[in-house]
Amino acid sequence: MNLETPFVLLMECGGCGLENLISAFTPGTPAICNQCRENMMDYDLTRTHQGHRCDSCQRTLLLKKETEFVNGESECQCEGRDFTELNMKDFVDSVTQAEKKGLDDADDNPDFDWCRPAQDHVPDERYDEIFDDDPGFT
Ligand SMILES: [Zn+2]
Ligand SMILES: [Zn+2]
Repeated sequence: MNLETPFVLLMECGGCGLENLISAFTPGTPAICNQCRENMMDYDLTRTHQGHRCDSCQRTLLLKKETEFVNGESECQCEGRDFTELNMKDFVDSVTQAEKKGLDDADDNPDFDWCRPAQDHVPDERYDEIFDDDPGFT
């Protein structure tokens, strides 16, 4: 199993239970739920989730433990029915390690600017001035 390359991840949110389809998930990147906006990787997945990977298309399913899944009967989007069960501990470990590695990489690379403060941040008291400066009135 190679977790380094992006793969299709179908995951039930540990918070609200919504099924999210992430078309290119790479360990180390957050998986944000479409409904509650939580990072689904933040939950204790070894406790709450079961994992299965489709043998034919590599789509990965992370389902809540109470969700019924029968290897050989449950069907993948590609109609494949053969799945390999993921060891959730290994999965979580590789995600955690990738996150750490990502942070280290960011420290090493000064050009990496995703955490740079947003350009449009203006202290509240300056909004009035901006409106006063409307060129239409000068
Ligand atoms: Zn959610
Ligand atoms: Zn499949």
